[in-house]
Amino acid sequence: MVRPNQLLSHNEMLRNTHHFGNESTLESIPRRGMIGGVVKDFTENDSAYGELALSHHDSSHPNTLDWQTEKPVAILKNLQRLTAPNPGVMTGPGTNTYILGTARTGFIVIDPGPLEPEHTKRIYSACEGDIRMIVCTHSHPDHSPGARPLQSLCKLSSKSSPPILGLSSKSTAKPASHFVPERELVNGECLVLSSAGTQATSLETHTLQVIFTPGHAANHVCFILLEDRLLFSGDHVLNGSTTIVDPPDGNMRQYLDSLLNLARLCQELRVEFILPAHGYVLGNYFGRRRSALTIIENLYEHRMKREAKILKVVQQNPTGSMDDWVKLAYDDVPEGIWPIAKRSLLAHVENLRSLGSI
Ligand SMILES: [Zn+2]
Repeated sequence: MVRPNQLLSHNEMLRNTHHFGNESTLESIPRRGMIGGVVKDFTENDSAYGELALSHHDSSHPNTLDWQTEKPVAILKNLQRLTAPNPGVMTGPGTNTYILGTARTGFIVIDPGPLEPEHTKRIYSACEGDIRMIVCTHSHPDHSPGARPLQSLCKLSSKSSPPILGLSSKSTAKPASHFVPERELVNGECLVLSSAGTQATSLETHTLQVIFTPGHAANHVCFILLEDRLLFSGDHVLNGSTTIVDPPDGNMRQYLDSLLNLARLCQELRVEFILPAHGYVLGNYFGRRRSALTIIENLYEHRMKREAKILKVVQQNPTGSMDDWVKLAYDDVPEGIWPIAKRSLLAHVENLRSLGSI
């Protein structure tokens, strides 16, 4: 196959994961939710299933799944999601800003989003101004530009002065993605929010572990919330759309290696759900079948199948152009997507060339 060493580790990974429960005895539980004012049961095939599985809900008061930007959605008692008003082809329903913490611990903001003053004000209000850190998964214009204005709002009110954390953009980044954090994150480090316990209240701690995941962008990072076993995947894993790997800042080899790294960590830390920067929560509490690990494995497999298809197409028509190849290699996606798909095609071709396969 295309990448023997990668496939070997992938197979090892699959073997290692099969001790998770006896799948044949597991049954799917439909989850009740409301969309467009209509209550319905969602199954595992619905993109909103993970969201309903994660948020504990009472079937007589089903969760509302309509996207909205005015108010944050409570995912857990210590986690809110505020979606930016920037829906589009590349951003789906809009960029998800995650707000971790409580009034007792203060808050960490993950991906403050685009330059959009109303969105910035809403983040600030949702945190009651008590923001301890602002972290960016990467520097694309829909993720990090809101960091400085948010920090300025905090400083103006003198309530807090949160540092902006992330990784500096590389020289390969487009000008609109230029970014320099106030402090560079370190792979594996933990960002901690905690409140002192009193006689009446216990200690409350939220720990975010940093994981470098280059591939979609050279300065991409993901975060695992250790206490709740959640992965904040930025744009590395999405719900409802496919991550674009756009060279030279995007790199397919790094993207695939980062997926394997995420899979290993999700297995080790028993991560159940993935919270992407675009789209609903992914995963299924019940039975682990759609746990974070399985989702990442499926994604990896999907990428490898695509790469194998591209290899075949290029081998059959070695003098062809990118336009010739995209028609055949992406014949299963609508033609309107081909201009974007060509970027990922190039990333796969570069990877195949670096491996000496073409
Ligand atoms: Zn994005």
